[in-house]
Amino acid sequence: MIEYLRKVYPKSQEQLFTLLYQNLTEQKKVFLVTANPETMMNGYRNVEYDELLKDKKTLIIPDGIGVVKMAQRIGNPVPNRITGVHTVQKLLHFGNKNELSAYFYGSKPEVLKKFSSILKKDYPNLKVAGMVDGYHYKDDEVMQDALKKQPDLVFVALGIPRQELLIHRYFEQFSKGVFLGVGGSFDVLSGFKKRAPKAFIQLNCEWLYRLIKEPYRIKRFYNNNMKFIWLTKKEMKGNH
Ligand code: UDP
Repeated sequence: MIEYLRKVYPKSQEQLFTLLYQNLTEQKKVFLVTANPETMMNGYRNVEYDELLKDKKTLIIPDGIGVVKMAQRIGNPVPNRITGVHTVQKLLHFGNKNELSAYFYGSKPEVLKKFSSILKKDYPNLKVAGMVDGYHYKDDEVMQDALKKQPDLVFVALGIPRQELLIHRYFEQFSKGVFLGVGGSFDVLSGFKKRAPKAFIQLNCEWLYRLIKEPYRIKRFYNNNMKFIWLTKKEMKGNH
């Protein structure tokens, strides 16, 4: 856990966005992993996921408050959360302003239909290189298609760990682009899923809202969070 936590981006979200815009302008490649305790636990349980988290080219951003707090505990001065949804919005905004191209893979067809009309309305200058739902196609075929188009932005909404594993497998073959696994962000941005009310977000309790709305996640949440905290503390003791 400590090795992952040391790698979490230690600066503000404004600094991150500046870095991403610069990468896009210079056509550099970057793979962003929006991390919460579940992300770190995937690294613990899955060798390939462990590799992608440790990869020098992967930028781990602190999506969950648990990651922010534990990163601080090990001495990484992460100031605050940087959420996946907000990062997607900023990238779409920048892409629109600079007429960049974007590829969208994942989520349900009806979600993408709505999302597509939102993109046309709010981001009219963004070039949609591809938009493929996550239920009717093969991952490899979709990535081959994305490779042909070499988009500036690649958003993959297939859930953890599939989205990150897929990006990591193809990352080397792309010559440019900002890559991001976005979980349920298309669902939120198209209004199919509600984001937590502001008060929950400000109190760093977005996770609680999600559990109230989606109680089937409670067991998964509890197991991942408890184990993540326990493992981090154990490693910290081992280091002293
Ligand atoms: N999804 C998909 N194909 C699948 C399974 C899931 O496209 O076979 C999509 C799903 O519709 C949702 C996203 O992946 O938009 C996962 O969102 P969730 O909030 O569950 O993300 P997680 O918390 O698992 O990262």
